[in-house]
Amino acid sequence: MNKKVLITGATRGIGKEIALNFAKEGYDIAINFRNIESANILEQELLEINKDIEVLKLYGDISKYEDCEKIFKEIKEKWNCLDVLVNNAGVRKDNLVLRMSEEDFRDVIDVNLVGVFFCMKFATKLMLKNKFGRIISISSVVGVSGNKGQINYAASKAGVIAMTKSLAQEIGRKNITVNAISPGFIESDMTETLEEDYKDEMLKEIPLSRFGSTKDIADMAVFLASEKASYITGQNIIIDGGLL
Ligand code: NAP
Repeated sequence: MNKKVLITGATRGIGKEIALNFAKEGYDIAINFRNIESANILEQELLEINKDIEVLKLYGDISKYEDCEKIFKEIKEKWNCLDVLVNNAGVRKDNLVLRMSEEDFRDVIDVNLVGVFFCMKFATKLMLKNKFGRIISISSVVGVSGNKGQINYAASKAGVIAMTKSLAQEIGRKNITVNAISPGFIESDMTETLEEDYKDEMLKEIPLSRFGSTKDIADMAVFLASEKASYITGQNIIIDGGLL
């Protein structure tokens, strides 16, 4: 029987690359999406990579409790288990503190932190039953270092690291590992819209002199889910070309 993975925000960027890499490894894949056209395209791509896997398409805004409840209900009905959860979905709404609205602060926390909590909670329930699980959350270097113009985003990502370390302590004895990956600057839609001057400045700060690729992150996600990573838990793995 194939192992099963759920990836949130799977239809673009890092999430999509993670989904493609798990397909290569022979996992059945549940893709959480908000745009059905992109989900259909991804489904085709996954089945082209590996026709022997099952793909579940699960609509949902992860900042909403009811949506997460529905996503996991469907996984329970179809599979009755989940081996790997990848908390990938995330947003940024940057601004300097004096210009940041309450709404922009709360929106980012709701998706990046509260949404991850919902998914961790529902996934834990399914994983405890089978005494196996891997929970992998995409945080950010900014959650460790902070960053001007990102107090909402940095707070959410620091929270993900703290939740990871706490949950790892709660459920380690049930053979469930919980880890975070903190990317630096990765080329995706999220970084595409940043100003060129800012990107040039960032590049000068990166010892490896290049921005990261979505594959740099996906490779680590697949590794953390594998047997080779079975003694790694409660960690925040930074992948930033040396930036931090
Ligand atoms: P991206 O290209 O903007 O993709 C974000 C994904 O999250 C999209 O699939 C989006 O779905 C989904 N999403 C957003 N809000 C959602 C919600 N409420 N419910 C469900 N899905 C939602 O970003 P990315 O660069 O791939 O980032 C992926 C993760 O890596 C994020 O957590 C991000 O914070 C983190 N990260 C990225 C970088 C970087 O440099 N790119 C660095 C550090 C950390 P839609 O297509 O429906 O909008």
